[in-house]
Amino acid sequence: MTAALRAACYVSEITQPLRAGRYGRPMHHPAPRFCPSCGGGLAPRGREQVCEACGRIHHRDPKVGVGVVVRDAAGRLLLVRRGIEPGKGRWALPAGYVDADEDPRAAAARECLEETGLIVRVGRILGVYNSTGGGASFFLAFAAESEGGQLRAADDAMEVGFFATDELPDLAFESTRAAVSAEGA
Ligand SMILES: [Zn+2]
Repeated sequence: MTAALRAACYVSEITQPLRAGRYGRPMHHPAPRFCPSCGGGLAPRGREQVCEACGRIHHRDPKVGVGVVVRDAAGRLLLVRRGIEPGKGRWALPAGYVDADEDPRAAAARECLEETGLIVRVGRILGVYNSTGGGASFFLAFAAESEGGQLRAADDAMEVGFFATDELPDLAFESTRAAVSAEGA
């Protein structure tokens, strides 16, 4: 076992085991057909695509989603009503994709600010969830605390609001409820 794999196993032990398949089927992003390096045709080889012209191997990277569990002073949960698929029209944690070279916690804070207007300090990880039923390959949920800002829906969010845990609206993803449970654990 490599050091990196040992570290990954350790991380999943201290957070929450990855529950493959429980949170919906991964979205299958269409494979690229042409080599980004030389424009040659790509042919599948195992799990990878290989350029038939220059021989370069193209790995398909996972898309990483991050989101935050934030509560107001009354203990209500911050949710956004999604303006885009997957889960359009239903409610979810403020969330989005990690950009290349971006710290996952910084990405979670950025997405929360973009969608809700709230500035948050991102803390401990609550769970790692395999596929959120659409866009991301896997999803990291973090606990976070509001540090200011002005609540208003923007970017990919149609609405934003705080909800009591026993009165949550129609949720887009199973991982939302799982992350909320993990927060209390
Ligand atoms: Zn090529």
